[in-house]
Amino acid sequence: MSGPTTVSVLLPPGGASSPGEARAAITGFLETTGLEFEIVALDATLEYGAALRRGVSDARGRVIVVVDPELPYPVSAIGDVVAMIESGATDVVFGTGGTRRSSLVRWLLVPTLPDPGLRFAGFSSTAGKRVVSETKLDGVECALEIGFLVNKYGFRIETLTVDVPAHDATLNFFAQVAAAVRIRLTNRNMGYRAARRCPVCFSQEVWTCGQVTGNVIRSCRRCKCRYLHQFSDEDDTHPVRRVMRPAATQGDSTEDAHSDSARSKTSVRRVAILRRQLTARARLLEVGVRDGSFASAASRDYEYVGIDPVQTLARQARGRGFEVYCATLANFVNTGPAFDGIALFHVFENMPDPHDALARMKDLLKPGGLLLLTTFDTEGLLYLLTERKRMAQNFRTHLILYSRSALIELLENSGFEIDAIVPDFEYRDRKFLRHVVSSRWPAVAPIARMLLEILPEPLLVGTGSIRILAKRRAGPPANVRAIRSVEPTHAR
Ligand SMILES: [Zn+2]
Repeated sequence: MSGPTTVSVLLPPGGASSPGEARAAITGFLETTGLEFEIVALDATLEYGAALRRGVSDARGRVIVVVDPELPYPVSAIGDVVAMIESGATDVVFGTGGTRRSSLVRWLLVPTLPDPGLRFAGFSSTAGKRVVSETKLDGVECALEIGFLVNKYGFRIETLTVDVPAHDATLNFFAQVAAAVRIRLTNRNMGYRAARRCPVCFSQEVWTCGQVTGNVIRSCRRCKCRYLHQFSDEDDTHPVRRVMRPAATQGDSTEDAHSDSARSKTSVRRVAILRRQLTARARLLEVGVRDGSFASAASRDYEYVGIDPVQTLARQARGRGFEVYCATLANFVNTGPAFDGIALFHVFENMPDPHDALARMKDLLKPGGLLLLTTFDTEGLLYLLTERKRMAQNFRTHLILYSRSALIELLENSGFEIDAIVPDFEYRDRKFLRHVVSSRWPAVAPIARMLLEILPEPLLVGTGSIRILAKRRAGPPANVRAIRSVEPTHAR
């Protein structure tokens, strides 16, 4: 990080009519930018992939840019790549002249791969060194391996379109497919260092499935959960690696966008569900109090205790006479007897470590105590239909989204016995539903508006979420944590 060199430009041999031409153009351009730079000529005696590995490992810059020897695009494109990476917007940039990989190759590997006709790419030093050092192929097909590994290790990636004259792929279609198969086989045989594992089931079959501002969304092939890949920098200073973000409660999420009356009706309904399971005056803990509507419904029947990490919300609820503490699950100290029940409504998704959270909740519960939690279901139809469109929205407030099967496994491994998993319904008022319909399905909006007028207000609707009722088992939980440290994983 502290080296004086900002940019390392790696220049492959060959191509240009006069070899010094590209070097002179790059030098001339970078001198005008005032950036500290070095130009590293790749070893002409090695094949491209092998030479690139050596070049990247020798590079001293914070940004590493690989260029084409003929420099078929304006030299200022190098500056664009450097700016994209230095601004922290991305870890990797693939330059593209508009030639796309065939869909078969992308299907075999990952959706975003470098342009088959260009070598132009930029890496943050961290990304470049990690990804390129893991490559195994020696020829130009190494570029495919780089695209694959960028996804495998969860680095952010952007493409930069550059003006280039028509050009041919450096590899023909069959050679590309053959290389893709080799890469897949190497991966299957654990030839590459594993990615950081799934936080839910610890599988290493995790892939980038989307990108949001500053982060990537990972998807676990095994348990079908989706999660944010990286913690933000300020969270790293907390003793708990990721904490629930106050932004979750600032009133702009779907959960909060509907009216008080709809919310309090939802809360009354939730208390009714609990009433079938808990005796009157049972001791009940709510994790994540938010607007306090559940507190107000539950305090009539139960000895209610709430915790919320957001100071203002905890204070507001206390002001209304509820026993609410400003605490996270990890640092909450229960001074009373163990709880008969714990309820979490769309809060579990905000917890960075589900295993720690469940172990903690198990400790807070009496044996046989009840856990009620509602959460999105990534195997649900509504979620699957809206995933692409709502990814940024979903991950503005959530860290992990679970599948139904992942939650079953998680709870059973954490010492809970599942009583029921059912679709969850919440009340929404007309105004909110009108807004949802007209923003998502404008074509049917007029009919939906008319329909809404004759339906009851507020209306009970499915939210694509599930509700789980589980009981604390007696006895120790299965030790799933042990498998975490079996193999070295990518240390990010
Ligand atoms: Zn998983």
